[in-house]
Amino acid sequence: MSNSNTTIYYTEDTDRSAIENKTVAVLGFGSQGHAHAQNLADSGVNVVVGLRKGSSSRAAAEDAGLEVATPAVAAEAADIVSMLVPDTVQPAVYADIKDGLEAGDTLQFAHGFNIHYGQIEPPADVDVTMVAPKSPGHLVRRNYENGEGTPGLLAIYQDSTGTAKEEGLAYAQAIGCARAGVVETTFREETETDLFGEQAVLCGGVTSLIKHGYETLVDAGYSPEMAYFECMNELKLIVDLLYEDGLGGMWDSVSDTAEYGGLTRGDRIVDDHVRENMEETLEEVQNGEFAREWIVENRAGRPSYSLHHQAEQNHDIEAVGEELRQLFAWSEATDAEESEEER
Ligand code: NAD
Ligand code: MG
Ligand code: MG
Ligand code: MG
Ligand code: MG
Repeated sequence: MSNSNTTIYYTEDTDRSAIENKTVAVLGFGSQGHAHAQNLADSGVNVVVGLRKGSSSRAAAEDAGLEVATPAVAAEAADIVSMLVPDTVQPAVYADIKDGLEAGDTLQFAHGFNIHYGQIEPPADVDVTMVAPKSPGHLVRRNYENGEGTPGLLAIYQDSTGTAKEEGLAYAQAIGCARAGVVETTFREETETDLFGEQAVLCGGVTSLIKHGYETLVDAGYSPEMAYFECMNELKLIVDLLYEDGLGGMWDSVSDTAEYGGLTRGDRIVDDHVRENMEETLEEVQNGEFAREWIVENRAGRPSYSLHHQAEQNHDIEAVGEELRQLFAWSEATDAEESEEER
């Protein structure tokens, strides 16, 4: 099944001179923006943060000792413009800054949605790249400060200068990604796998599995508390085992009964029909249907998003969980204190 010919770059593959005398405009100072801006600055790169007048992030950027300007002014001054505002507002921000992109400048992303689905169409004489840490921004910052790194992705969409890759690698080094490994990919692959993963497995698939499991137990007359613990709380322990040691490590850690039951029943639950649904979901990502739906949804003021968001908040498991998590936090602290006393 494996067809890997993936290239991974590390610090020794990077050349900091590719970014050394350049100015980077970091647009946005949220999850990714605050981490990129501060890591770049600490690595000796010139940084100017681009934020709207009156942005609530402005004080935080100034407190970090960074220069702040409007997105248009920041982009004008920069050789590299790092687009780190939310994906849904990037096209509008791009319209504000595009006049500041000169031939040979770089427009850089941390996710490929707007380029891949044609919502931003940069001129042919700029480089278009992606340096995308595979982690939330606060970890990108914390790992850097600890002298560690965060794995990341590098993709080149447009290489007008012939040096886009060297510059991207130097940027990845400056934010700490090359310390952990930079995987080469494409805008298409990053965008489509990211959307599919969050829809089918990570965010959509797993929450749906939890809710169906919970409802099956509660509808059969079991207590909501038991159903919560079994279908939601324990998931964390299983995922930790998978993260640390893969499928085999997880199966080794659970009982033989759990292993036999899981191996014989798992594929009955997530069966060929689910696989067909996954393939359909992937197709909607690949043919742009999902992207079009989400773009139209945003233009309409997110009516469907709001309904789904509300329904999820109102699910019974949320009320049960909130109560139990409070008790659980209390009993965990008490357990810790007790075992402290025993020692
Ligand atoms: P965020 O929502 O955390 O940051 C938003 C920032 O943009 C804030 O500073 C806000 O002030 C600013 N902003 C919001 N609206 C604006 C507007 N209209 N004009 C100008 N500035 C505006 O964003 P994020 O999660 O860091 O995402 C940035 C990019 O990074 C996205 O492309 C995202 O897909 C990608 N990414 C995010 C993560 C993550 O873990 N959050 C991981 C990998 C890649
Ligand atoms: Mg410029
Ligand atoms: Mg995503
Ligand atoms: Mg993802
Ligand atoms: Mg159990």
